[in-house]
Amino acid sequence: MTVTLGDALDAMAGFPEVEPADFVRRGLLVIAPHPDDESLGCGGLIATCRAAGLPVSILIVSDGAGSHPGSTLFPPMVLAALRQQEAILAAAALGVGPSHVHFAGLPDRSVPISGYEAERACDRIAALAATADVVAVTWRHDPHGDHKACFALARAAVRRVPGATLWEYPIWGLTLPPHMPLPGERPRGVRVRVSDHLPAKRRAIAAHASQTTALIVDDPKGFRLTPDMLARFDTPWETFIESPP
Ligand SMILES: [Zn+2]
Repeated sequence: MTVTLGDALDAMAGFPEVEPADFVRRGLLVIAPHPDDESLGCGGLIATCRAAGLPVSILIVSDGAGSHPGSTLFPPMVLAALRQQEAILAAAALGVGPSHVHFAGLPDRSVPISGYEAERACDRIAALAATADVVAVTWRHDPHGDHKACFALARAAVRRVPGATLWEYPIWGLTLPPHMPLPGERPRGVRVRVSDHLPAKRRAIAAHASQTTALIVDDPKGFRLTPDMLARFDTPWETFIESPP
């Protein structure tokens, strides 16, 4: 069966709204392909869970070194270190301490789905998922190789963990053309209310300054989150799509 992105967005707009306490009961693991995806897609839920005293872990899968390939001031190793620091600051804004922010360090734009590194990442996801009932990863239809790879790794890992359920959060999939066909059925899922913690989410997103500001001055063509893109995530709820096993 095939639906369009427009159908999927219509379905998402009609997802039932749930309270965070009815969504995460034991613990949350967020898997982010790049430093910033966790704040954009799940920042409100992370802050809400922490405020309720629930354990939250964040795994940043790629090193994020590919966002500004033209910069000489921020060559890949420097950029990776900066983005790691930004992710730690963002997590702190959401109430997650540095010991609960994990970095797999896989290459940005080349996250593997097979081989030794992929298996190691899978093992790590499974270990972190052991204390979570909700594992959130980027949507399978996000048009970015790293986002798709992280979905594949998370699906393989969570299948091994009894008691953990995988949910998918859309990032770049929201920007696809509405007529774009998507394989599979109309998505099902929930919209989780995060309005009480929207200010913390905004602070977390802002902590990723290399992606949201002109901090890296010598690569004007480098990646930058546009105001339009940021507005898509500045909402009183966050969307989580059921991930069929
Ligand atoms: Zn990303």
